[in-house]
Amino acid sequence: MSQLSLAYIFQHQKLLVDENFQLPKVEKLASDLPIHHNDRVIARDLLEGESIPEGYQLIPIRELIQSWSTTDFLQASRAVQLLEWRRNHKFCSHCGHPTDIHTKEYAMVCPACAYHQYPRVQPCIITIITRGHDEVLLAKSAHNKSNMYGLIAGFVEVGETLEEAVQRETLEEVGLKLKNIRYMSSQPWPFPSNLMIAFHAEYDSGEIELQLEEISDAQFFKFDQLPEIPFKGSIAHAMIMQMIENKKAS
Ligand SMILES: [Zn+2]
Repeated sequence: MSQLSLAYIFQHQKLLVDENFQLPKVEKLASDLPIHHNDRVIARDLLEGESIPEGYQLIPIRELIQSWSTTDFLQASRAVQLLEWRRNHKFCSHCGHPTDIHTKEYAMVCPACAYHQYPRVQPCIITIITRGHDEVLLAKSAHNKSNMYGLIAGFVEVGETLEEAVQRETLEEVGLKLKNIRYMSSQPWPFPSNLMIAFHAEYDSGEIELQLEEISDAQFFKFDQLPEIPFKGSIAHAMIMQMIENKKAS
């Protein structure tokens, strides 16, 4: 019997795991996506008609962030993004011919015109804005029904620097100007295929003016009087916690 592979088996953004959030081991199929070269870790979509093994269930990967280590979550995140990319590139975007899977690298190749389609990430900025020594700007999304207040975030537009994206998104969403925009860290975020790039900026000028289609409320909160913030595991949570630590240390 051949050696079994550790498998990321997805149904959209849900992953098959057992009650301890462990992955199943399966026989590798030719159509499976290898997650590491020469490694026995694969990813695939739940096959049509495939039943869920006893003791296993499909869990939204968002929920796994809190149960898994960052390393484990990042590998699952990579698996779901590669699968989604493969699913969305079955045809050549240049000439429309069905594509082939490249045997050695992550690429979908067109046999008619040789166009190669590679996985892409969407750069997305996220900004923690502070005012003075003890205030942080938090905003409530108009699309989210919960009472959670998060950070200003948005996609980088074509031809824009990351710092320009930070400034533009902030001006659009809450009407404020910023100064001292500084890079903090980054995190892949597989919903669906973003790279979150975190910045710290200081309030410069302006009054809060909401872009109501995007933001239902935004306020400067004292660090010791924060509302409900994004969950642990999200980059927003880590950024807010890091800022609180920095303030304590200073
Ligand atoms: Zn083509």
